[in-house]
Amino acid sequence: MIIVLRPDATEKQVNHLVAKIKSLGLKPWVSKGVERTIIGVIGEEDIIRVQPLEVFPGVERVLQILKPYKLASRDFKKEDSVIDVGGGVKVGSKKLVVMAGPCSVESEKLLIDIARKVKKAGATVLRGGAFKPRTSPYAFQGLGVQGLKYLAQAKKETGLRIITELMDIRDLDTVLKYTDIIQIGARNMQNFNLLKEVGKTKRPVLLKRGMANTIKELLMSAEYVLSEGNFSVILCERGIRTFEDATRFTLDITAVPVIKNLSHLPVVVDPSHATGKWGLVGPCAKAGIAAGADGLIIEVHPKPEEAMSDGEQSLVPANFEKLMKEIEKIAEAIGRTL
Ligand code: PEP
Ligand code: MN
Repeated sequence: MIIVLRPDATEKQVNHLVAKIKSLGLKPWVSKGVERTIIGVIGEEDIIRVQPLEVFPGVERVLQILKPYKLASRDFKKEDSVIDVGGGVKVGSKKLVVMAGPCSVESEKLLIDIARKVKKAGATVLRGGAFKPRTSPYAFQGLGVQGLKYLAQAKKETGLRIITELMDIRDLDTVLKYTDIIQIGARNMQNFNLLKEVGKTKRPVLLKRGMANTIKELLMSAEYVLSEGNFSVILCERGIRTFEDATRFTLDITAVPVIKNLSHLPVVVDPSHATGKWGLVGPCAKAGIAAGADGLIIEVHPKPEEAMSDGEQSLVPANFEKLMKEIEKIAEAIGRTL
């Protein structure tokens, strides 16, 4: 950590800071320049991170050298993490993973029909929400446990792995019975108690970036899961809220290479929620893969106009199939496979 002092900082203020740093068992390294003084702090940065050093008289800025997340960082693990979600499906390897399915599980028949179609097109994981985080309490909230049972049936019939959202700690044991990947939605990215609980399991977690959260905050949330012992975390860029209103959210494509530089965890892109418009899903999915994402999570519905949620951003199976063929070509161009 480096503490930059104000140009008018007094000797007394510098000494006061130095004494504080020493009292914490850390080593201050004072460098007096012509313009101003800076203090380098050597030692366990965590000890000092929680101290409100900015409020000390004479301090202008405090710069952190080490990242606040450790286990999620590239410094901790140089090689890319590959998350085994079972059934031979691994996220983060050369082979891309595409998760596809309806926004909400609606009926067994419809789910199995979608599952068969997305599998045929090359998806290896079936998505579908049984517990839905809806903006309106009057909107369809999901089928709950019945929806989980339909997912299990679809898995039995197709062999696809399952991803479904967990919204509430009270449903953890139930969701664990049915899912291969626990999805933590954007709205729960900073539900720290929920993160700690999924961290205590060994089940792979797909952690979606909150719509108003920075990449650093996403990695700090991942750290919650990792620090409980669960290293099977997949990050997901699903669009953030900006001033742009042409799309539902703004897909932060830059997040993909930025996260790849900062962390060893795999990243997938959700072009469905990022755009909110089915016609934009393809271009953004392709951009995500070209930018280095390890996979995609895409909403597919045979009758989007009748979907109980997110129909406007759902691809019909034929368009999903077409997109998969295009993605295959991009994968090939960047040395990956689908
Ligand atoms: C979803 O995947 O259906 C969903 C609600 O996503 P998000 O949490 O990204 O809004
Ligand atoms: Mn949705």
